[in-house]
Amino acid sequence: MSAEIIAVGTELTTGAKLDTNSQWLSLELAEIGVPVRAHLTIDDDLDAMADAIKLAASRSEVVLITGGLGPTLDDLTREALAKMAGVELVLHAPSLEHVKQMFAKRNRPMPERNTMQAMFPRGSEVLPNPRGTAPGIWMSVPREAGDASDGERVCRIAAMPGVPSEMKQMFRQQVLPRLDGGGRVIRRARINCFGVGESQAEEILGDLTARGRDPDVGITVHEATITLRIMAEGASADECLAKIDKARDTIINRMGTLVFGVEDEELQHAVIRLLNQRRASLSTAESGTGGLLAHRLTGVTGFETCYKGGVVVPTTAAKRDMLGVDPMLLRQYGEISEQVAGVMAKGCRQKFGTNFALAITEWGLFKPDDPFAPVPASFVALAGPNGLLVEKVQHFGDPEIAKSRTAKAAVNLLRLHLIGG
Ligand code: ATP
Repeated sequence: MSAEIIAVGTELTTGAKLDTNSQWLSLELAEIGVPVRAHLTIDDDLDAMADAIKLAASRSEVVLITGGLGPTLDDLTREALAKMAGVELVLHAPSLEHVKQMFAKRNRPMPERNTMQAMFPRGSEVLPNPRGTAPGIWMSVPREAGDASDGERVCRIAAMPGVPSEMKQMFRQQVLPRLDGGGRVIRRARINCFGVGESQAEEILGDLTARGRDPDVGITVHEATITLRIMAEGASADECLAKIDKARDTIINRMGTLVFGVEDEELQHAVIRLLNQRRASLSTAESGTGGLLAHRLTGVTGFETCYKGGVVVPTTAAKRDMLGVDPMLLRQYGEISEQVAGVMAKGCRQKFGTNFALAITEWGLFKPDDPFAPVPASFVALAGPNGLLVEKVQHFGDPEIAKSRTAKAAVNLLRLHLIGG
């Protein structure tokens, strides 16, 4: 069994509102093992909606629709359903009573147009909506034989209100009990890595990311963090988790120290954990990142026991006054240089009296004429009990993510040092 989701509304297709309903419904369907094969966002156009529903119903056994059930002239979902099924709309008296009562409760007269919300395609079922005026619609339509040869002969369609809170309640209370998941369950896991590009990660993982494998392993990248998304399908949660464990072991085996965390964990979570395990302390000095590193580190629960503070030193004077960086050195090598990063890290370690200090020299305002011009390299440095490590961060791709990437490179330098990588 598979499903398709249709989100109706011109405000969605124009970009005025984001379709979050389809995302939520996909996750809910995954929980009961119904894979979703398509999302469609469509504007309030009767013929286009009827065609879209017909096509979805010919391909999938379940079609979920949200939006377009209101009383206004552009709310056309009920008409579209009647049109695609070739039936008329008929009045459902108890629903009309419900709509009238909703208005009475609010002490407002019911506009005539709201009668429309009590009209349903002949042969459909009413899905009550305790939260709003618009009841939902449940109907089954025959699937065209040619397309239905591999599955069920009918498609089950649920049309729900667009308002997310109303839709969610209706889905859980009315729609979910009407769907069986075909006994299939889906479970997901994420593994986060840093230090290679997407294509390199793909190369290292080899056959693991090939299409059609079970479990499915996909790669996404966000500001240089690579996330490997595992999706396993099975008859039970235990079966899925066993498949995920196996895939996770293979990934960790192949990716090694590039792996730093799972699910929502970021590099700073890994580093704060490692510092606390080793009872070691850290301070930071930043030029060009405006305190991004400090911001990230102080966002982790338990940072107080290891992170002792940081300085933002964007100017020559600040570097001199707060970290004792010789202005001659800045003139000689430039603000963004291996030498300055190293001296900043050492000065910071001394100032805060910590075991480790991280320093960054990044391009604060890099605004070339060409918006696609690559950001020149920046530097990160780590001063510790065993001396100094400096790394060049070569930027490529979107200059907008350069600061984030450099801050991550600094944290990763310390992470690798702490795990001995
Ligand atoms: P009602 O008559 O109760 O308003 P409706 O079925 O007519 O319900 P719409 O008018 O299409 O729903 O949408 C109502 C509101 O719900 C929209 O203004 C929007 O804020 C929200 N909404 C609609 N569709 C979505 C969606 N797919 N994702 C997130 N929000 C949505």
